[in-house]
Amino acid sequence: MMFSSPEAWREFFETYYQKELNTLADKILTDGRKEKSIYVNFLKDLFIFYEGRIAEELLEYPDTVLEHASKGLELSYNIHDVRLENCKARIVNLPQTRRILIRDLRSEHVSKFVAVEGIVRKVTEVRPKIVKASFICLSCGNEVFVVQDDNQLKQPYECKTCNTRGRFVFNPDNSIKVDSQRIKIQEYPENLRGGEQPQTIDVFLEGDLTGKINPGDRVVINGIVRARTRGYGSRKTPYMDIFIEGNSIEVLQQEYEEFEITQEDIEKIMELSEDPDLYKKITDSVAPVIYGYDKIKLAIALQLFGGVPKKLPDGTEIRGDIHILLVGDPGVAKSQMLRYVHRIAPRSVYTTGKGTTSAGLTATATRDEVDGRWTLEAGALVLADKGIALVDEIDKMRAEDRSALHEAMEQQTISVAKAGINAMLRSRCALLGAANPKYGRFDLYSPLVEQIDLSPTLLSRFDLIFIMTDQPNPDHDRRLAEHILKTHQIGEKLEMMKHLSIEAAEYRNEYKNIEPKIDPQLLRKYIAYAKRTVFPVLTKDAMDRIIEYYVNLRNSSKESSVTITARQLEALIRLAEASARLRLSDEVTVEDVNRVIDVVEASLKQIATN
Ligand code: ADP
Ligand code: MG
Repeated sequence: MMFSSPEAWREFFETYYQKELNTLADKILTDGRKEKSIYVNFLKDLFIFYEGRIAEELLEYPDTVLEHASKGLELSYNIHDVRLENCKARIVNLPQTRRILIRDLRSEHVSKFVAVEGIVRKVTEVRPKIVKASFICLSCGNEVFVVQDDNQLKQPYECKTCNTRGRFVFNPDNSIKVDSQRIKIQEYPENLRGGEQPQTIDVFLEGDLTGKINPGDRVVINGIVRARTRGYGSRKTPYMDIFIEGNSIEVLQQEYEEFEITQEDIEKIMELSEDPDLYKKITDSVAPVIYGYDKIKLAIALQLFGGVPKKLPDGTEIRGDIHILLVGDPGVAKSQMLRYVHRIAPRSVYTTGKGTTSAGLTATATRDEVDGRWTLEAGALVLADKGIALVDEIDKMRAEDRSALHEAMEQQTISVAKAGINAMLRSRCALLGAANPKYGRFDLYSPLVEQIDLSPTLLSRFDLIFIMTDQPNPDHDRRLAEHILKTHQIGEKLEMMKHLSIEAAEYRNEYKNIEPKIDPQLLRKYIAYAKRTVFPVLTKDAMDRIIEYYVNLRNSSKESSVTITARQLEALIRLAEASARLRLSDEVTVEDVNRVIDVVEASLKQIATN
């Protein structure tokens, strides 16, 4: 015996949703569209009705209960006295316990109502789908209807009028259609631990749910888990694919922050912010296993914090995100650096220019192999929105990305206009790229632009470009070798300790310099907290210092091959803001400016040797 019934739902709607019933009836009267829905708040309303029994039944037997809800809508009273036919109850706000991670979806969830959270990776264009197909019998000319549910169009078995199993022709005009769209959602990048590949799931949407979301949106999909056998016809296998039949979508605020910072965390963050060695500690934590490169590590630390984005009175936006490019010989730890940043950044996406995935760096519109629909897929910079995109071998990127990257880096949007798809996606992220020189080794005496497969305009989008060369230098080489050997040694010992359970502290002490100074978990929280709450402003002195430096730089660059433009000025401001943010200060001081001038000089000096 179930508590749910069309009558119970009628009572529910009339008790809690009378206003919505009237509005819905009004809408149907004015624009006559058939597909309409009422949003039901699970926790707030359904859960207190009949002591939550119907809510529980919905989770267990969603097909039956949602059917009751639709019938209940039809029975419900409204002031316009309109029959609410073909209306749907869309359920939102499920309890946290019902939120299932994509990677945890199992056969036990099939046919159950769940909520799945993720970032939208792909959307197809919206196209009609036949739910009830009309056929004409060629023997007697009568019409036969067949309800459709699978991917293949189902033919009638026989004609009920003339009782023959003759031939039929499909009659699309008389068939009943709904709008349909397929999307793919993917786990949040920030919930993946180093190196894990994000998992995805397909979601099928119909009616008024279609055409509402874009790749890059963060959503909760509430719906029924379905399983379908793989293959078609005689090639069907017993293995099943699962997907979700969407009942409702909740688009999360872009500003929504996933990981929680407790009062206790804030105390630790405050304590750390007052550490006299703060800059060194954070810099050293960027990639402790990599020897040297202190300026680059400081630059990356500043990039993690970022400058303050601004909106001008005319509506144009200036990015706060800092873009950095590492160029250099093979084997100088560029890739390693990127992978490490991936581990400590609060939100980051790691990819290579060659692209292991089809979507590349920006976005791609392709025709789907299965159903021929145009599909828009988000690339790394869209998925990294509000975070950092780590792009190794960026010089190997696809031609489409080359042209789209200019807009993506500066305006932080990606416009797509292709076939049935017109969209503008957001890419508000910082970019840390690595590139190898075209001819294998970097030649310090030829210009940078000639040695790397990136256009000068694209290069000018980077706030900082560092050249990492591998020049033999006995003193440096010895220390580097010692550092790497130590890393390997401690790696081995940690492995051993797992078996022998020897106190780890002893070894930590011995190899302090390759242990991160700050616990990565705390560092991620520290960065997230700073980005969320600190928006530093330049002091008068800081401004004067920036102007002075900029004018001098312009002046001295007259004879050199490096062109200094207003872009460098903006870069300086962003870096100085990041420097203030790093110590949670609301004011950018002269010390901040001097600190970042040092970093800028380090990057310019290398390029100036061209
Ligand atoms: P790249 O991407 O620049 O070609 P990788 O990141 O793949 O180079 O590095 C090659 C190897 O050399 C890695 O195992 C890395 O740890 C090591 N290596 C190179 N330079 C350093 C360094 N400065 N400190 C520690 N390890 C280094
Ligand atoms: Mg590499």
